[in-house]
Amino acid sequence: MHLADMLALRPVPAAGLLMAITRRCPLTCAHCSTNSLLTSEEHPAEWFSGFVGTIGREDRPELIMLTGGEPMLRPRLVGAIASAARGVGTRTMVLTGGFFAPRVPSALEDVAHVSVSLDVFHQREVPRENVFRLVHLLAERGTAVSFHLVGTGPGDPYLTELIGTVRREFRDEVPMLVGRVQAAGRARAWAPADERAPSERPRPCTMAAWPTVSPDGTVTACCNQDVLDHRPVPGHLRLGHLSTDDWRSIRTSCLTSPLLRAIRTGGPRWASGRSEDGYCGTCRALGAEEAARPRPAAAYLEQQVVHAQVGAGPAGFMRRYGEARFAELVMLGRETHAV
Ligand code: SF4
Repeated sequence: MHLADMLALRPVPAAGLLMAITRRCPLTCAHCSTNSLLTSEEHPAEWFSGFVGTIGREDRPELIMLTGGEPMLRPRLVGAIASAARGVGTRTMVLTGGFFAPRVPSALEDVAHVSVSLDVFHQREVPRENVFRLVHLLAERGTAVSFHLVGTGPGDPYLTELIGTVRREFRDEVPMLVGRVQAAGRARAWAPADERAPSERPRPCTMAAWPTVSPDGTVTACCNQDVLDHRPVPGHLRLGHLSTDDWRSIRTSCLTSPLLRAIRTGGPRWASGRSEDGYCGTCRALGAEEAARPRPAAAYLEQQVVHAQVGAGPAGFMRRYGEARFAELVMLGRETHAV
């Protein structure tokens, strides 16, 4: 499954499921948004595999994206999830720092796509040549591959050099998702706040489309790091917990919550008429009053907005959520690697 095909699904509610299956990581990157260490929290594998086991073919997500921490610290769990997901027609993607490079773990056998993080911070932990070798080996055996790159902005010289090198090394066959270091986790102390201020116009929140599982088993409506890191989760953003809920109930909550629909349609300010402490800050402050507000034609409006976002395509998504200058790089290799 090509990176562009995954991003094309990103605006579609419940078309994907994000799962951080551990917060542990063997690397100590200075920009780690989850502040992961080898000693970080990790919960029973059965929570995660059991939840995936509740997914049925008829209401499955198209994609499960496994993250962490470092998901490949739990290779047996990755293999079990990918195998179970494949059994109901769902594809699995793994986002990894590649600490095991250039060796290809057998746990990746049923995984449809492997994306490897590579940037100035990861390169201090895992040599670039080992990462390149890993990506070559995966591609040679038919696994779809991509890179997740981050920099400090569109003019970051390291990022520009890295993108040029990847393009030459892989002859423009391997796509790249290029973002910006966010002021979260270990980068909170030093990374500048993102100056790309949201406009006051209605601005749909695409991030509220896919349920997100935290390492502690909490399932939230979005992957915003502040939502993932703080407890309790605001009521309208909490979908459930792996120990008590199955995929069907999580999916139903995601799809039918009127306030989530409004956030996906026009963003938190449009949904509430309030404007506090930024876009996501406004969202996290919403409560019972906004949740109870009648929202006529919510389903129709949401459908129109999702349709428009899908029409903007994978590069359109990246122009909004990634480094706009490099948005088209998610399309590299798309013609030779269809769905
Ligand atoms: S606006 Fe709300 S739902 Fe969207 S990413 Fe921010 S906190 Fe999450």
